[in-house]
Amino acid sequence: MDTSAFFNTLIILGGFMALLSVIETIVPLQMRKDANRTHLAANLGLTLITFATTLLLNLASAAGAAWIYYSDLGLFQYIEISGVAALFLGVIALDFSTYVAHVVMHKTPALWRVHLVHHIDPAVDVTTSFRQHPIETLLRFAFIAIPATALGVPPAVVAFYRTLSATNALLEHANVQPPQRADMLFSLFWVTPNMHKVHHSRRQEETDSNYGNLLSLYDRFFRTFTPTGRALSVRYGIDGCDQEETQTLGAAIMLPFRAESRRQQTSPN
Ligand SMILES: [Zn+2]
Ligand SMILES: [Zn+2]
Repeated sequence: MDTSAFFNTLIILGGFMALLSVIETIVPLQMRKDANRTHLAANLGLTLITFATTLLLNLASAAGAAWIYYSDLGLFQYIEISGVAALFLGVIALDFSTYVAHVVMHKTPALWRVHLVHHIDPAVDVTTSFRQHPIETLLRFAFIAIPATALGVPPAVVAFYRTLSATNALLEHANVQPPQRADMLFSLFWVTPNMHKVHHSRRQEETDSNYGNLLSLYDRFFRTFTPTGRALSVRYGIDGCDQEETQTLGAAIMLPFRAESRRQQTSPN
């Protein structure tokens, strides 16, 4: 994605974020609490860092990705599949890789400490969407860039997948109550808002489920799916990480390197 397209996408995402934050006040999924206000500085700070890191990664990789694609080195060019097939297969493959990245972050102690930054938010709302450590941004980027390069996924399809992921991330985290039956129905194949809310539960068996990014098919196939009905009563966050001093922007950046967080191995088993 070139720089002007990247900034246009950011403006659209920012507008959608603002719209969802208004809807959150009209039909909230869970009642607002103090943490919805106190998490703002850390969440917005981490969101800016995520956008800046993504821009740098885009700039660093764009030329290389285009060269590989136009050099016909990828599998898709080799077997000469059509543009529509490249779109569908590309999205399915990149989404599987993103699912794997998420499972790896939960199951590897060092990476769980990085991913913990996203999970310790005690109040999930639209500002939680891009609350992640820059190391996680780098890792997620690699889990898209490597299969995209190997398969020769067209750069436009990669950009489409990443924009769709960012848009769905806003919907997944917004503290908005979706129609329950529709949410349940869509969760047969799609990662719905309530499906991802269950992933933010304090209960480890729920935290370690619903890893999907766009498609819920992988959670269903690998039996990591938890039904979405629990979303209304789920308690967000991670036990032992609620202290005020753990919830600041600085603490979030240092969290993967802190000795105490090494003992908070609540998720990996
Ligand atoms: Zn997670
Ligand atoms: Zn999340």
